[in-house]
Amino acid sequence: MTVKTRFAPSPTGFLHVGGARTALYSWLYARHHSGTFVLRIEDTDLERSTQPAIDAIIESMKWLGLTWDEGPYYQTKRFDRYNQLIDEMLADGRAYKCYCTQERLEKMREEQMKRGEKPRYDGHCRCCSSHHEPDEPYCVRFRNPDDGVVRFHDHIRGDVEIANSELDDLVIRRTDGSPTYNFCVVVDDYDMGITHVIRGEDHVNNTPRQINIYKALGAKVPEFAHVSMILGDDGAKLSKRHGAVSVMQYRDDGYLPEALINYLVRLGWGCGDQEIFSLDEMIEKFSIDHVSKSASAFDTNKLKWMNRHYIMTLDPKYVAGHLEWHMKDQGIDTSNGPELSEVVKALAERSETLKDMASQSRYFYEDVTDYDPAAVKKWFKANTGEVLSRCLEKLESVAEWKAENLHHVVEEVAAEMEIGMGKVGMPLRIAVTGRGVSPGIDVTMELIGRDRCLARIADARSRLADRT
Ligand code: GLU
Repeated sequence: MTVKTRFAPSPTGFLHVGGARTALYSWLYARHHSGTFVLRIEDTDLERSTQPAIDAIIESMKWLGLTWDEGPYYQTKRFDRYNQLIDEMLADGRAYKCYCTQERLEKMREEQMKRGEKPRYDGHCRCCSSHHEPDEPYCVRFRNPDDGVVRFHDHIRGDVEIANSELDDLVIRRTDGSPTYNFCVVVDDYDMGITHVIRGEDHVNNTPRQINIYKALGAKVPEFAHVSMILGDDGAKLSKRHGAVSVMQYRDDGYLPEALINYLVRLGWGCGDQEIFSLDEMIEKFSIDHVSKSASAFDTNKLKWMNRHYIMTLDPKYVAGHLEWHMKDQGIDTSNGPELSEVVKALAERSETLKDMASQSRYFYEDVTDYDPAAVKKWFKANTGEVLSRCLEKLESVAEWKAENLHHVVEEVAAEMEIGMGKVGMPLRIAVTGRGVSPGIDVTMELIGRDRCLARIADARSRLADRT
């Protein structure tokens, strides 16, 4: 059997991390088995589905690298197919027209509740739908089996079973003619040949009803795995209150997709003590049967740790591609300055996120207009003018603008003036970056470039002169 899985989001909002993890597991399962992964947009709820939400889902999937082999399919383009099947089911009695009014249904529900029963449709129209006028409004219900039990083995939750007597006749087409979610999902999974349905645990109660529909359609029932929820670190349902929840917000906050993917795969699945998984390793080792059935708590600190790991270990050229987005986002023009991958190398160890890296790297590309007042207070001393003058003189005659040579200049000035290297390096750093923190001053100056450094040091010296 060739494995075929799908991710089937309803486009009523952005893609959140819970949905992304479900998509990831479904994708990994397909990739592990050299199968096919389908993206299907479940947009039948016309009031709540929006184009911006569809765009956001697709953008998130692409950013995460969860490539699909088929789709995106759209349920709204398949109404004819759903209706064709509903009509066939109506014709042979697998479904029936229900003319019950809202008032009747409400009254029935109230009485059932009064008697302490679970509210359910009583099957009133199963046998009497022929006495109605052709223009009377009706919905269509699926004739659920009366007896027996529905059983399935959930790859995450184990064996699930429910008696048919617990299930009522589900509406599959509303009075307005639109097919309902539980029906469309089954038809799609059937038509698309989905072998494994991996989805959120909020759907586990729909599964027995859907299984009965598969059987009524003569379809092979797929296998199921219902992935549990992600909670905030305080145990409450993950929400904006806990920080970012949408995938694209993580991009905006400076995370690499590799970090988010690695974090999400580990959140609920593991393989020994291993924390860091390359995509290939995940694909090789992932098993849906080892996904935890308890809810997982989102831990932003661990995600940050993984982000740092990937910033430091991935190819700087690749990281630079992602950094570029943040540079643009922060309005920094990188066309006139060092290669971004060199900036990544210099700042990787000092950056928790790419957003942070971008904001730290402004001085590589833009003139320094202000100095950090705290750094100035601490490091601009009476001898700073002389420090800068000596540095400038020596730097002007450096033959090759390389970190090693620049380092020697700092050493020489410190030795000549009989002061510590920090007392030379720090004023120099403030002069060329405006800040009290940067990568090594030698590397920093190399990247900023000769002309810019010399101009900035001269500028700092004259600012100092003005001050005194
Ligand atoms: N469209 C449903 C949702 O977004 C998922 C349905 C399914 O995966 O079967 O919750």
